[in-house]
Amino acid sequence: MFQLTDAEFAEAVAALQGLLRIDTTNPPGHERPAIEQVAAWLKADGFEPEIAGAEPDRPNLACRLPADATRRSGRPIVLSCHLDVVPADPARWTHPPFAGIEADGCLWGRGAIDMKGFAAMGLTVFRLLRRRGLALNRDLIFAAVSDEEAGATLGSEWLVHHRPDLLGGDPEYVINEVGGFTVHRAGQRFYPVQVAEKGLAWLRLTARGTPGHSSLPTADNALAHLADAIGRLASARLPWHISQPARDFIGGMAAHSGWLARTLSPLLLNSLTGPTLLPLAIAEPSRRRSVEAVLRNTVNPTLISHGGEKINVIPGLASIDLDGRLAPGQTADDLIREIRTVLRDPEGRRYSIEVLRTSEAVVFSPDTPLFHTIRDVMSRRDPQGIVVPSIVPGFTDSKNYARLGATCLGFYPLRLPPDLDFAAMFHGDDERIPLDGFRWGIETLADCLLQFAGIASA
Ligand SMILES: [Zn+2]
Repeated sequence: MFQLTDAEFAEAVAALQGLLRIDTTNPPGHERPAIEQVAAWLKADGFEPEIAGAEPDRPNLACRLPADATRRSGRPIVLSCHLDVVPADPARWTHPPFAGIEADGCLWGRGAIDMKGFAAMGLTVFRLLRRRGLALNRDLIFAAVSDEEAGATLGSEWLVHHRPDLLGGDPEYVINEVGGFTVHRAGQRFYPVQVAEKGLAWLRLTARGTPGHSSLPTADNALAHLADAIGRLASARLPWHISQPARDFIGGMAAHSGWLARTLSPLLLNSLTGPTLLPLAIAEPSRRRSVEAVLRNTVNPTLISHGGEKINVIPGLASIDLDGRLAPGQTADDLIREIRTVLRDPEGRRYSIEVLRTSEAVVFSPDTPLFHTIRDVMSRRDPQGIVVPSIVPGFTDSKNYARLGATCLGFYPLRLPPDLDFAAMFHGDDERIPLDGFRWGIETLADCLLQFAGIASA
C-alpha cells in the first residue's frame, strides 16, 4: 500500500494551507492567484501546466502526467477539483475562514472540504507519482477549475466546450467530488461513491393580476398571487420518482443496516408507500431531507426577481425565480407540470413559467472497472468500511465532463470521525478537514490509481 513520508505529508498540508489562505469566494471568484499557485508548484516539479479560460481573472488549469510510452493501454483519467468557494461569514466561525489555521487535529478554512482539500490531495498524488517514478498505463490529468459554485460556466463548462484537449480529449474517467468520505450510520462506516447527480431546472414564475390604482380595493393583485404561489411551493411534496441510483444508494445502505432498515427499505423505495413511510423510517430531519431529495423533484423559491414599480400602483406582474432539481429521467417540462398542479393552475391562466436554465440528471453505472478497483482498495484501507454507489441532490463539474463521454465518479477519499458531520460542513460554518483523515485519503487515492493503471514493477 502507498505510504506518505512525514515530509511528503507536511508538504501536502502546506499546499492545502496555502490554498485556504487565498480567498476565492465566488462571487466574485477571482481564482487566478490560486490557479497560479498550483501552477507554480507543478512547475517546480518539472510539469508544464496550461492555464486557459474565458476571463483573465478566472482561468482554469490542466496538467498532464503522460502514460509510460511503451505501455499505454487506456484513455486518460482526470482528477478534477474546483478552486472557488462559497462565502463565509467570519463572525460565525471559531477560526477565521481564510487563515488556514491548524487546531484540534484539523485544518480549518472555507474550502477545506469543498474542495481545496481534494485539490491538495490530487496535486500531492500527481507530484509523487512522478517523483517516485511510478508510471501509469494511461495519461493522468490534473485539472483545477474556476466557477463551480456559481454554475461552472467559466470553469468545467468552458473547458469542455473550448479546450477539451486539455482534459485529454476523451477521458475515460473523471474523479471529482462528492463521495469517498465516511458516513457513520447504525454502527457502520459507509463510503458513498457518487455515480449520479440530479438535474437542474432554474425557472422564473410570473404571476399575473390586474394593474390599477392602489387606493381602490382589489383581490386581483399579482403580488398577492405570487405570495400564494410561494406558500404553496414552499410546503409542496412533489410526487416521487425512484431511480436506479436512488435504489442502489438507499437500498445499499439499508442492506448493511439493522433488521428494521432492511425490512422497511423496499417499502420506502416505492412511490406509493414511500412518502407516508419516510417520516416514520427516518426520524432525524436533516437525514430525512437528504434522502427525500434524491427520491423526487424539488423546487425552492430563492429570488424575488420582479415586484411592483410604485407604492401607489397595483402591479400587473410579479416574478420569482425557482431553483428546481430533477430526479433522474425527469425533465424541466415534467417539473413544470408538477408545479402547475401544486398551484392549481393546469392551463397557465394565472402563472407563466419560463425555463432559465436546465440540464437533466447525469447517471453513470457503478459496474465499471474503476468503481470495482475503488471497492477493492477500500476493503484494504478500511476493512470494515462499506462502499455504496450514491446519488447527490446537487450538481458538480461532472455534469459537464459527462459530455466528453467520461464516467465520472465522486471519490474524494476522506476518513472522518463519527463526530464530524460532513454534510453540515459542506457550505456550512467551521469547515475543516481532519489531518489524519486527509493523509489516509491521499494514500487511498494513490492506491486506487496505482492498482487501476499502475505498471507493476516497471
Ligand atoms: Zn464543490
